Amino acid sequence: MRLLLVEDNPRLQTLLGETLNAAGYGLDAVGTVQDLHTSAASTKYDLIVVDLGLPDGDGLQAIRKLRSGGLATPILVVTARGSVEERVAGLDAGADDYLTKPFNNSEFLARVRALLRRPTDVIGPLIKIGNTTVNVSNLEVICNGQDVDLRLSERRLLLLLMRRSGNLVPKGVLESSLSEFGRDVSANAVEALVSRARKALTEANSDIQIDTVRGVGYTLKDRSR
Ligand code: CA
Repeated sequence: MRLLLVEDNPRLQTLLGETLNAAGYGLDAVGTVQDLHTSAASTKYDLIVVDLGLPDGDGLQAIRKLRSGGLATPILVVTARGSVEERVAGLDAGADDYLTKPFNNSEFLARVRALLRRPTDVIGPLIKIGNTTVNVSNLEVICNGQDVDLRLSERRLLLLLMRRSGNLVPKGVLESSLSEFGRDVSANAVEALVSRARKALTEANSDIQIDTVRGVGYTLKDRSR
């Protein structure tokens, strides 16, 4: 097990690092968004623990970027920002769990263990919903053994929705997640992507159904359930 800890407060970095080391986890510790991206790109971690207030940027933005790039590694946010809105924003950005400072060490370790226990078909390189699978590293979408005819931006959109299957994904989250790739994505563009993805999935007889929640966002469902 190898973990990445992203915390700019030296005292907390040492404290959390010692806690994780004592629990037997291998650890890399960094303190900036830039080092987070460098480390996540070069090493395959089992879990990433991220503080949101970092000196060179916002942890939320960094998480969104990692997720839209296809990173499936579980992410635990540890932060002083504890309001309900902030927690929701953290989870919407692609974090798997959210812990508000100050927290108890044993609760911290329990959350770490829980995230590391998640089944690999949820957090591994393949996400499967019904008869349809997406490979999070190359964005290949396979349905009944056949490659589904989707453009790259549609594959990214589908991956974002599949990660939160069964949950409402706000349109704004899709816009900002898909915008990380150098240009802005408008609400209309998201609608067009959803519409093309739906058509391709229907043609492939996929179990995936993307429902529109008017004015709010989308929910991806498994028709085979
Ligand atoms: Ca901080």
